[in-house]
Amino acid sequence: MVVLLIQQLERLQITMTNQTQPSNQTNDQTVKEPTIRTENVKVYYGDALAVRDVTLDMYRNEITAFIGPSGCGKSTILRCFNRLNDLIAGAKVEGTITFEGQNLYSKKVDPVEVRRRIGMVFQKPNPFPKSIYENIAFGARINGYQGNMDELVESTLRQAALWEEVKDKLKENGLSLSGGQQQRLCIARAIAIQPEVILLDEPCSALDPISTYNIEKLLTDLKEKYTLIIVTHNMQQASRISDRTAFFNAEPTPKGKQGYLVEYDETETIFQTPAQEATQQYVTGAFG
Ligand code: ADP
Repeated sequence: MVVLLIQQLERLQITMTNQTQPSNQTNDQTVKEPTIRTENVKVYYGDALAVRDVTLDMYRNEITAFIGPSGCGKSTILRCFNRLNDLIAGAKVEGTITFEGQNLYSKKVDPVEVRRRIGMVFQKPNPFPKSIYENIAFGARINGYQGNMDELVESTLRQAALWEEVKDKLKENGLSLSGGQQQRLCIARAIAIQPEVILLDEPCSALDPISTYNIEKLLTDLKEKYTLIIVTHNMQQASRISDRTAFFNAEPTPKGKQGYLVEYDETETIFQTPAQEATQQYVTGAFG
């Protein structure tokens, strides 16, 4: 009880000392803790430093967008968050990445469990070559789901705004759906194993404008429940749906291009009053 009271007092104090920094506060004025925090992260592929200087706090119930020209390390950083770079020979991560306060790269952390809690949706929709039903049920079963599978499939497809379109053909192959539906199925598959964070690597780049609109609407709904981090080449998309935006750029080095984080702020600031000239030029289409 006393401990709780002290914790509450500490929270209040933190709230009061942070009042000149509104960006981390919710409407009820409590300070938000980041879901994922990166500090001075660098990623190497072999000897080549692919991306550096990445210090970011990303929050629950928000969409964080990564923008910047090709090859500046956006996907590389995204992949660090669910330890997918572990699977790339020669990839090395330096600096600190914490997830809910815990070092994501600690020896005690199981990468398989990380990938359950932090799901990934890729650029090209990649449903399993199985039925729509199995696309949802498969991962849940593997993760030991004991509840009613029909209910899970329905509620997951509803969350992914796909239920009405597929409820009469759950036995059909997931690959028989349109590209946009396949991508929503992949998002549903990610949700089915009850992650806390969903990473999305250019999820709309292979889709037409209507499917893109449907995915954007879906992501806006999903942020009520999850932390979402999206890599996008589409600046309008970043400005429409994200709460915060990180702008990455790249510079030439003797070993090839080297990416770095230029600026990170609330999306409105990045698009309207960025601190860096390069950000201003990029968001107004001067390069990229
Ligand atoms: P972006 O997502 O911004 O386009 P990437 O993260 O894909 O950038 O790439 C950043 C840099 O890392 C590029 O120079 C790219 O060639 C290099 N890179 C990406 N993946 C690999 C890999 N698996 N092996 C070696 N180099 C890679």
